[in-house]
Amino acid sequence: MQSTKAIVIGAGIVGLATARALSLKGYAVTVIERTDKAVGASIRNFGMLWPIGQTSGKMYQRAIRSKQIWKEVADSTGLPYLENGSLHTAYHADEWQVLQELAAEFSKENRPVSLLNISEMQEKFSGLQTEGLLGGLYSSTEMIVDPREAIATAAAYLEEFLGVQFIWGKQVNEVTSHSVRSGKEIYKADIVCICNGADFETLFPEIFNELPITKCKLQMLRFVSDQPAFTIGTSVCGGLSLIHYKSFTAAASLPKLKQRYEMEMAEYLNAGIHVMVSQNNRGELTVGDSHEYAKTFEPFDSAHINQLILAYLQTFMHSKQWQLIQTWNGVYPKMTNGETDLFLQPEPGVYIINGLGGAGMTLSFGFAEEVVSTL
Ligand SMILES: Cc1cc2nc3c(=O)[nH]c(=O)nc-3n(C[C@H](O)[C@H](O)[C@H](O)COP(=O)(O)OP(=O)(O)OC[C@H]3O[C@@H](n4cnc5c(N)ncnc54)[C@H](O)[C@@H]3O)c2cc1C
Repeated sequence: MQSTKAIVIGAGIVGLATARALSLKGYAVTVIERTDKAVGASIRNFGMLWPIGQTSGKMYQRAIRSKQIWKEVADSTGLPYLENGSLHTAYHADEWQVLQELAAEFSKENRPVSLLNISEMQEKFSGLQTEGLLGGLYSSTEMIVDPREAIATAAAYLEEFLGVQFIWGKQVNEVTSHSVRSGKEIYKADIVCICNGADFETLFPEIFNELPITKCKLQMLRFVSDQPAFTIGTSVCGGLSLIHYKSFTAAASLPKLKQRYEMEMAEYLNAGIHVMVSQNNRGELTVGDSHEYAKTFEPFDSAHINQLILAYLQTFMHSKQWQLIQTWNGVYPKMTNGETDLFLQPEPGVYIINGLGGAGMTLSFGFAEEVVSTL
């Protein structure tokens, strides 16, 4: 019996997750990717699989399910990963207050978090700035992959274990019900899933013009430590990250903290800067980021933004001895109406799956399973 055919456009994490879910549902899947290998948002991120940033309930469960799938992919392929949780640091009484409230709220939902005092933090982790440190919130659920390796490996996994076919270096120019055109070539399929990330307006532009969606540009840096064996032991962020993720609104005193940041750190807030560091299995330290929202960006990165990121990094990490090895930017699509994702059917048999914002690595596998189960 011939299987039903599906074409997925885009080999970023959303396309890969969709291809996986379709294949497990019995579709014969072909992924068509414009570039010779994935070079979009999915390889430019921290590689943080970060359930802590997701609100309790459906979103947190989606993140946990996605992490489980990441582990299946990694365990089948030998992809390295570090399941070493995440740490929020507090250097001000109001940050410490928020962390305590979050610990209480998350514990009610049985999320595995604990408050750590300074000596516990020093014992468990390295490189933390201890001057003025009041304590931290540790969560054990988070996991790190190196996205550059992980995305390529996930594609190879789909090919080898699920028989997904990949066509690289072919731009899709048009999609209609049951067919996809690239230049003069036509590919037929029963269903087509468009997972083209920040290039969303290039297919069905008139639909995207009407949607509450924009783009976000982020600046990132990568370092190596001058001590080759240096490991932090987790991913770490400073207080500013608390105002960037919906899940932290569970803390009653978050608005007060935000008010202080608005008064004292306006430049950071204007550039959407909050600072996190993730360390991959080779010891490289990925640091970011800033958030600029627009449909079209200047192609230039701002040295000043990188300096602000570095200055803030030094408030919670001893990073002066780290050597900067790379800088880059990444762009992802972001819903402007508070929604966490986008799933549309513009024509019969054609689906748009997009809009996961800053959490695509954390959520895509679970989200794709949910979406594909409805087809
Ligand atoms: C700097 C940065 C840091 C981040 N950190 C994290 C993090 O730590 N954890 C986390 O969970 N999330 C993080 N994110 C978010 C996450 O990376 C994104 O949500 C996710 O990568 C989006 O995946 P995607 O598949 O939609 O997009 P992409 O990875 O951009 O993939 C889209 C693909 O579609 C292809 N394409 C486009 N048009 C066509 C066409 N016409 N024909 C064929 N192919 C086409 C593109 O070439 C591209 O490969 C971060 C994002 C950035 C930018």
